[in-house]
Amino acid sequence: MTKEIQKEIVFKGIAASGGVSIGPAIVISKAKTIIEERNISAGETETEIQKFSAAIEKTKSDILELQNKLKNAIGEKDSKIFDAHMLILSDKALIDEIEKQVRADKKNIDFVFNQTIKRYVSAISSMPDSYFRERAADIKDIAERVLRNFAEGDKGSEIFENFTGQKIIVADELAPTDIAELDREKILAIVTETGAKTSHTAIMSRSLGIPAVVGIEGNPVETIRDDDIVVVDGYIGTLILHPSQNTLHIYAEKETRNEKFQSELLTETRLRPETIDGFRIQLAANIEYPDECESALKYGAAGIGLMRTEYLVFSSEYPAIPSEGEQFEIYSKIASDMKGQPVVIRTFDIGGDKLTEYFKTTPEPNPFLGWRATRIFLEHKEIMKSQIRAILRAGAFGNVKIMFPMITVFEEVEAIEKLMQDAKEELKRENLPFDEKIQKGIMIETPSAALIAEHLAKKVDFFSIGTNDLTQYTLAVDRTNKKVAGLYQPGHPSILKLINNVVTAAKQNGVWVSVCGEMAGDPAYAILLIGLGVNELSMTPSAIGPIRRLIRRIKLREIEELSRKALSFKKSDDSIQLAKDLIGKVAPEIFSVET
Ligand code: PEP
Ligand code: MG
Repeated sequence: MTKEIQKEIVFKGIAASGGVSIGPAIVISKAKTIIEERNISAGETETEIQKFSAAIEKTKSDILELQNKLKNAIGEKDSKIFDAHMLILSDKALIDEIEKQVRADKKNIDFVFNQTIKRYVSAISSMPDSYFRERAADIKDIAERVLRNFAEGDKGSEIFENFTGQKIIVADELAPTDIAELDREKILAIVTETGAKTSHTAIMSRSLGIPAVVGIEGNPVETIRDDDIVVVDGYIGTLILHPSQNTLHIYAEKETRNEKFQSELLTETRLRPETIDGFRIQLAANIEYPDECESALKYGAAGIGLMRTEYLVFSSEYPAIPSEGEQFEIYSKIASDMKGQPVVIRTFDIGGDKLTEYFKTTPEPNPFLGWRATRIFLEHKEIMKSQIRAILRAGAFGNVKIMFPMITVFEEVEAIEKLMQDAKEELKRENLPFDEKIQKGIMIETPSAALIAEHLAKKVDFFSIGTNDLTQYTLAVDRTNKKVAGLYQPGHPSILKLINNVVTAAKQNGVWVSVCGEMAGDPAYAILLIGLGVNELSMTPSAIGPIRRLIRRIKLREIEELSRKALSFKKSDDSIQLAKDLIGKVAPEIFSVET
């Protein structure tokens, strides 16, 4: 019998993390929880039923909470829409039927629950009375909530643990915290329907070296089945279902070419990142996990320009805010692994798209504009102080600097200064060694901070420009929203002008300026940034090679002129084109390398 040849289907998305992977898919729908049918033993039935009762109780309390919130917002009357939900959750006949079924069929509870609900919904949907038909929607809604609570009861990580072998994850959405829970070895690539280039899911994939495509169109979650063979091209942002022999051949050649160029770049890691006319740029690495120091060193980073400590909170190794002692150990180890090179530890930047159940934040309508990072921890001062203490203490054993994210107003820097002072005094009293003169920096990632940089510069030793957030806040584009991804333009003249303002203020006050947003590792933007006068570029380690090669082929005087011109342009594309033309002349091979 000849095997049916299935037609190749190409889905287009946003290239989020370079690399190509070919392998079997695992489809994960967070919106619609996937339910597998499993046989269980007689002994397991009661545990399943207990899980069911817990999920029902949790859903009831979620609904009550929702109803109370709504009472204030929309009034008592309208909030009664949830009464129907509560009635369903208390429907004894329904609950008894499900429990009986689990005992009789010996199947997992979520499967039985889902089957029963489907039967109810189909019966109700065909009733002539529109009132009853509308109740079907309530039942579906409530069922989704209960199913989600089953998953949460299992700590939500089950979806990743349930499969064997290496897979390509095709998901509707994945939070950075989900990725933090993954067993990296099992993941060949990640594809999500939501997300954009600088969403933290994309950034995480890059630092883990997992090819990723985000914001993919065409609803692959509906089309692709588990174990279908797919190709993920994280360089150009495509997902190919049922690849043809020809496609597979093209990808094999592409990989060979790329590997060759990458290994060539690895022979250059000791070369100085210096322009032809002798201007040295510091090239550092952004990391999320302590073990990434290895890759930072492999690619020749001159230190860590950004350690995103919030990932310690998300990782399964430290599934909570780590204690001061744990943090001290981690930060000291990073400093020692980096062999005396500078290590910038950024305090927890929780919030925005980095929400965690370990640090309960109430859902907010606009989390990126809400309770995030320093804003949270200036309220939870004890947590901030213990992190500051850990960083100060690690400073006694290595070249450690401290950095604070998400600064918008001057008062925040004053409050931080005060907390640092308190922490130092405590450590003195306790006779614990620490770095009294630790360098203190802030992230410039809001337009307000960029515009008052002249004042902020009086308070700190260094600035690190977070262009990922600076772009989202300046252009009013949610960095995770693929619908507005076209408006997410880091090369926009408004961003270049803000950066220029920051660099000018920094230079006047002897303050070091780094850029640690994704712009830093993109060759065209890197040209513009160096031309604007930044001292350091910090990026995902694998991006360092091409940037180093590029720096060694340019003259600072020339690119200063280029950046000056870019400041007067109307559009982002004009500056990018100018930078690309230059790269095309001095290092065209960089366009063929994919990091
Ligand atoms: C940034 O905003 O550019 C940045 C580096 O911080 P994060 O991506 O962690 O928000
Ligand atoms: Mg940021």
